[in-house]
Amino acid sequence: MIKSKYLKKLIVEPDSEVNLKDFPSDWLDTPEGKEIGKELIKERAAEILEESRIQLAQAQELLYASDTHSVLIVLQAMDAAGKDGTIRHVMAGVNPQGCQVFSFKKPSAEELDHNFLWRYMKSLPERGRIGIFNRSYYEDVLVVKVHPEWLGPGAPADPDSKFWQQRYEDINNFEKHLSRNGTLILKFFLHVSKDEQKRRFLERLTNPEKHWKFSDADLEEREHWKSYRKAFEDALAATSTKRAPWHVVPADRKYVARAIVADIITTSIQGLGLKYPEVSAEKLVKLNEARVKLEGHAADDDSP
Ligand code: ATP
Ligand code: MG
Repeated sequence: MIKSKYLKKLIVEPDSEVNLKDFPSDWLDTPEGKEIGKELIKERAAEILEESRIQLAQAQELLYASDTHSVLIVLQAMDAAGKDGTIRHVMAGVNPQGCQVFSFKKPSAEELDHNFLWRYMKSLPERGRIGIFNRSYYEDVLVVKVHPEWLGPGAPADPDSKFWQQRYEDINNFEKHLSRNGTLILKFFLHVSKDEQKRRFLERLTNPEKHWKFSDADLEEREHWKSYRKAFEDALAATSTKRAPWHVVPADRKYVARAIVADIITTSIQGLGLKYPEVSAEKLVKLNEARVKLEGHAADDDSP
């Protein structure tokens, strides 16, 4: 497991200003990273991912059995930061029945006709399940803040800061409501540098097997890099709370990002202190009777 003193540095302190320059996109750039070195980090990251996967599978089973909590994982990032790969690698060992992934694209006309949280509410995880939001209601204060013209009918043409402030407030209240009702909320911003994004886009443009991953909009949105960065900084600062803090995950190296996300999800679920439901004395007697009866069955007896 990753030492908590390292993980603490990734958390956005509630009520603090956020400057993404203060958070590394490459963990190797940090003093700790430099000290440990690339080869050892790669090795450790693989071990942590493997260890977390095994423990996450167990934690998920317990989450399902105890049926008292749900887990909502929110993943946000610039394009090509590795959201899909992170989900695939981190959740690889989890029972598919206990885990639901939802990817949110541009809203439909029907979705735009409702309040901005409506479409996300419909996809929240049930008790006992892990729900992953690949993009989320945060898009409504990120991409839409960069492109207010996408707000849809009924919204102001030129929204002011009060408008965005109210959306942050709505999000915080929404998360408070979920948390009070037994949902553990884990939010990750996969922090990738502009250079690394360029490298990944070029890979998508040159490797025929990755062509399908590239969309024309990717380059257009890259032009707005600064506005996105500002929108992220504002949103992270306004919505990192004690009950639902933001983690800024260094994502220039995929193996680092995956290990960190896996570790945080696993240890957070374990931190809930869940227990398998206790069986009543009455039920224990019945279980015992059933066992005795079953043991009495002849080995080759096909009769009812
Ligand atoms: P990939 O890694 O496959 O590119 P993706 O999550 O980027 O995955 P896309 O289909 O490329 O998926 O993009 C979805 C687009 O939908 C993004 O540009 C995102 O900003 C946009 N989007 C998501 N939610 C909203 C929203 N509420 N309003 C407007 N646009 C949204
Ligand atoms: Mg995309």
